[in-house]
Amino acid sequence: MPQPIIRIDNIVKRYGPLTVLDGLSMNVMPGEKLALIGPSGSGKTTILRILMTLETISGGHIEVDGEQLYHMAGSSGLVPADERHLHRMREKIGMVFQHFNLFPHKCVLDNVTLAPMLTKGIKRPQAEKRAMELLDMVGLADKAKSVPAQLSGGQKQRVAIARALALSPKIMLFDEVTSALDPELVEEVLNVMRRLASETDMTMLLVTHEMGFAHDFADRVLFFDRGKIVEEGKPGDIFRNPTQERTQTFLRKII
Ligand code: ADP
Repeated sequence: MPQPIIRIDNIVKRYGPLTVLDGLSMNVMPGEKLALIGPSGSGKTTILRILMTLETISGGHIEVDGEQLYHMAGSSGLVPADERHLHRMREKIGMVFQHFNLFPHKCVLDNVTLAPMLTKGIKRPQAEKRAMELLDMVGLADKAKSVPAQLSGGQKQRVAIARALALSPKIMLFDEVTSALDPELVEEVLNVMRRLASETDMTMLLVTHEMGFAHDFADRVLFFDRGKIVEEGKPGDIFRNPTQERTQTFLRKII
């Protein structure tokens, strides 16, 4: 029986008086493609950031690939596990952000090779060979020596995807990766993600407002509202026959 690669159990996340995640639980199976949808502010990005250990949490358990991500540290509450452990965990999870976050003064090739060389001790020739394969995969091998400022938004985002893949993660997180792009650049990024989804067995979690893409991409759609998963199911069911009123209202507004 395969075990979930991600187990999220009863997570509570607060910012001061604001409860952002309110006892959220979900499991993700290896290789699953998940779309997280729901109104702005419902906690979708927060759950991705928690998986990247970019946040602390107020309660609950998270296990990735059999290891706890957070542990109790006295009065500080639940904090990310120790650095060495985290280092190992972070290599398992890659994240692509809305705003690319490329290193602006480094060329495309260096953006992709930097993390494998620094964190995995991979030698430059090998890191560059792998980076060129990835850049080829995202259609940007000819831009290897360009700096980010010379690229379009869609191209920057494809570099960001190649960079995240360079660490060979088991899990990829995509946080509204097309929402900062001009409409004509969205498709080129979605095409790369479609290929990744169909050609690899990576586990993928996607936060998106592109409902058409979520429908085609995901094995399972989770509808978030006010820090909880209100409804989940196969894309065909969620988009055609949502059972919860909050899902119905959201989809009526957005589609
Ligand atoms: P979504 O991705 O569903 O739009 P988020 O996870 O980004 O929602 O945000 C959930 C809530 O947490 C929002 O109300 C947001 O304003 C709040 N929030 C996010 N980050 C912070 C922060 N660093 N400090 C305070 N509030 C935050």
